[in-house]
Amino acid sequence: MEGIKIGYLEGIHKTPYRAVVDMEKCDYCGDCFQACNVNALGLDKSHPLPDRRVTRADPEKCLGCGACLTACDREALSLVDRKSYTLPPKTKRNMFLRIAREKGRLGPLVADQIKYRLRGTFKK
Ligand code: SF4
Ligand code: SF4
Repeated sequence: MEGIKIGYLEGIHKTPYRAVVDMEKCDYCGDCFQACNVNALGLDKSHPLPDRRVTRADPEKCLGCGACLTACDREALSLVDRKSYTLPPKTKRNMFLRIAREKGRLGPLVADQIKYRLRGTFKK
């Protein structure tokens, strides 16, 4: 979660949901800010009325955890389906293979594994 705060947005798997704010209900009281562990809530700078301040949930940061929903007395927050969602790897092995692939190290890793196994074969 600390990683997300400093910009590593894919550092943790998110739920298939994301928070959205109802602009009509939100009065920018800020009560929900403390509830969010990844600082995904802040001022909506794209609001069409410049003197109207409302909160926005950053979809890139939001985990879809729902922790902020109960903090809002005005019921301005809700969860909606996330359009794209990456499933977490089912096993640790798959996770490490994916990390190696994303870092461009899958080739050397496989080569090392082959070398290691061949060495074992020749020792027998
Ligand atoms: S607690 Fe509700 S009303 Fe207050 S800023 Fe958050 S979303 Fe808006
Ligand atoms: S759903 Fe969770 S991560 Fe998203 S804004 Fe609310 S508290 Fe933050």
